[in-house]
Amino acid sequence: MTKKVKIGNIVIGGGEKIAIQSMTNTKTSDVDGTLAQLAALEAAGCDIARCSVPDEKSAIALKSIVKGTKMPIVADIHFDYRLAVAAADAGVAKIRINPGNIGDESKVEYLAKYLKERGIPVRIGVNGGSLDKKYEGQPLYEAMCNSALEHVALLEKHGFDDIVISVKSSDVVNTVKAYRLLSQKCDYPLHVGVTEAGIYEKGLIKSAIGIGALLCDGIGDTVRVSLTDDPVKEVYAAKEILKAIGRYDGAYAEVVSCPTCARTCIDVQGIATRVEEYARTLDKSVRIAVMGCVVNGIGESKGCDIGVAGGKDKSVIFREGKIIATVPNENIFDELKKQIDVL
Ligand code: SF4
Repeated sequence: MTKKVKIGNIVIGGGEKIAIQSMTNTKTSDVDGTLAQLAALEAAGCDIARCSVPDEKSAIALKSIVKGTKMPIVADIHFDYRLAVAAADAGVAKIRINPGNIGDESKVEYLAKYLKERGIPVRIGVNGGSLDKKYEGQPLYEAMCNSALEHVALLEKHGFDDIVISVKSSDVVNTVKAYRLLSQKCDYPLHVGVTEAGIYEKGLIKSAIGIGALLCDGIGDTVRVSLTDDPVKEVYAAKEILKAIGRYDGAYAEVVSCPTCARTCIDVQGIATRVEEYARTLDKSVRIAVMGCVVNGIGESKGCDIGVAGGKDKSVIFREGKIIATVPNENIFDELKKQIDVL
């Protein structure tokens, strides 16, 4: 079991619910733009949001950003410990910084004390693409793990152990191996993700494999799907990964639909898409099946609460495997919606 770490009003680790994270891609110094994106992330179901802090202007803007959202904000900082101090003063809930990269040790000592006094945790975020030269020659996953542990040791040396770790690479196998190794060597909560995963479809697949494999192993306390796309899509993707492995905490509607074939009698894709869109607005746990034919449809969707199995002009609506109505094909969506609503 990992340690618990408090990030604002969210606790991660120690068996708590797996928190969903994303990151804004607006300029952090653009307070209004960043707050608008944070509102969209929160509405989508994001638990924790990260903002880059490349300069002092961004660190100052964090003050208004933190005040303008209910989500805990994480300041992402590279190299400059003064920006970390400014972000802490702005009220952020966590700092992502690698202490081994901020210069001489007196700065680490100062920062560790400063953050400890304010109860602000640190995420050490090792990225496979920017490892120190001293790790050359080691397998990538070992190098990432060793680098993370070295940053950890530096903070621990200065009495700081309010730590979350990530060891991400754009290579899925190395990412998975690095987290597996790390999880054997420490009990800090792990922020899991595949970094620079790519544009939408590619990033989704790499993230689902990497994050999914780790979560199936019981590794991972918070997740971030990294996509070259709208960050809101990262939140939806993270939710789908959690749902797919039964780790999503909360009610949700799941739509299963058949792949269609020569037996298909109805517009499975169109109906399933409408049902999926409607299901997203619901706060109830329900499984809905959209199947193209009666030959296999009902049998293949056992376990669903409600479903349709397509016929030539009319289709059957079933509930828990039993037929409850027969409707003209143009009324399928309306009937499914009616049945979902009364559940
Ligand atoms: S449910 Fe029917 S239409 Fe859909 S894939 Fe199976 S056999 Fe084909």
